[in-house]
Amino acid sequence: VSGPLDREAAMHTQAPHSADLSNLWMPFTANRRFKAHPRMLAAARGMYYTAADGHQVLDGTSGLWCVNAGHGRQPIIDAISRQAAHLDYAPSFQIGHEDSFLAASEVAALMPDGLDRVFFTNSGSESVDTALKIALAYHRARGEGQRTRLIGRERGYHGVGFGGISVGGIAPNRKAFSAVLLPGVDHLPHTHDLARNAFSRGQPAWGGEPFADALESLVALHDASTIAAVIVEPLAGSTGVLVPPRGYLERLRAITQKHGILLIFDEVITGFGRLGAATGSAFFGVTPDLITLAKGISNAAVPAGAVAVSRGVHDAILDAGAGGIEFFHGYTYSAHPLATAAIRATLGVYRDEDLFARARALSAPFEEAAHALKGRRHVIDIRNLGLVAGIELAPREGAPGARAAEAFGKCFDRGVLVRYTGDTLAISPPLIIGEDEIGRIFETLADVLATVD
Ligand code: PLP
Repeated sequence: VSGPLDREAAMHTQAPHSADLSNLWMPFTANRRFKAHPRMLAAARGMYYTAADGHQVLDGTSGLWCVNAGHGRQPIIDAISRQAAHLDYAPSFQIGHEDSFLAASEVAALMPDGLDRVFFTNSGSESVDTALKIALAYHRARGEGQRTRLIGRERGYHGVGFGGISVGGIAPNRKAFSAVLLPGVDHLPHTHDLARNAFSRGQPAWGGEPFADALESLVALHDASTIAAVIVEPLAGSTGVLVPPRGYLERLRAITQKHGILLIFDEVITGFGRLGAATGSAFFGVTPDLITLAKGISNAAVPAGAVAVSRGVHDAILDAGAGGIEFFHGYTYSAHPLATAAIRATLGVYRDEDLFARARALSAPFEEAAHALKGRRHVIDIRNLGLVAGIELAPREGAPGARAAEAFGKCFDRGVLVRYTGDTLAISPPLIIGEDEIGRIFETLADVLATVD
């Protein structure tokens, strides 16, 4: 076979490893392609990975948008080690452990006013499915059990549970399961308008009201009395860094509020500093009813997630419980002691190093560095906000995504980890990054783009 895959493989330095690669079925990966030319990571510290062949790789993606405080942070390592020796596990129901309550309070303190009830999960996908179930339980508890319709958005990513792929708007993730997705789900249009908003810096000027008003059309079509919740990422990351146009989130909030529809912000990426504030909600000044969290909540050192819920939603469900179990939902590993230890230590690092303010201060030089790629070969759009940027490339004819994949491979081999999604390269460095490293990420990208066909 010849073509872009071979071109990518040809310039790749084979990493040494002794593992049999056949048993592991890797998620979201072209397994055969990876296994033919594996790129392996062996260690991580601060802003850098060490690849298996020994070369240093600047982590331009915070792992998968999750290692916000950088790798191998000692307070987090210490907290996890201490907890593993002290309390390896506690059942998540019928009995408690103190750290889970302390962790919930510390998470709640970072949430917008009123969203101070916290349900722990182990991942973003679990947080999303939990939030959708809370939304349905809330309406039922209030005697509005007919409100079951859920509204997501095209190009939304909400993990891979059946709830998450139902409200998500990524066709390949849904295709094999289309017959059994949740019924009664609609999608708002996505907010990416290349013709009007290309090369916007920060929030695009155009589109806020018209894109949000699509929700009014859905309400008119189905009647508000049937709609439980709207779920969106304040900034969509995984599908190519789609920054909300100005006024969009405010208007979604106004429409949902008017019709008694819950608004869920999926902040699995935007939570914990990515935009230069504790949450996207705080950054945009828009408060939803529920916020889904994961990734940066534990600096990814232990799998963890959470849903922050408004007091009103929480109380409606608990008050209806009448002394019994209020909500039939939970995980064996909800508030796992290692996770709560990691969460508390992580939040301590964010606080002690003032990392959200650091991200805010770095967002201007980051924006400059990203937009310096304008005019480079293949670049048709640059989008950014806080410490996240998307560089969209014109697709190679007949091979969508191949250009970005090639650039990703070449950047890795030159010591910079970026992520590719479709034809967009996504950059989301740890919040501890400095201006020199920011420069290096985008300069490497500029050099690499000049060599990509
Ligand atoms: N929601 C959003 C916005 C995400 O970006 C992701 C993961 O990238 C998820 C949910 C799913 O999280 P997880 O992979 O931890 O299940």
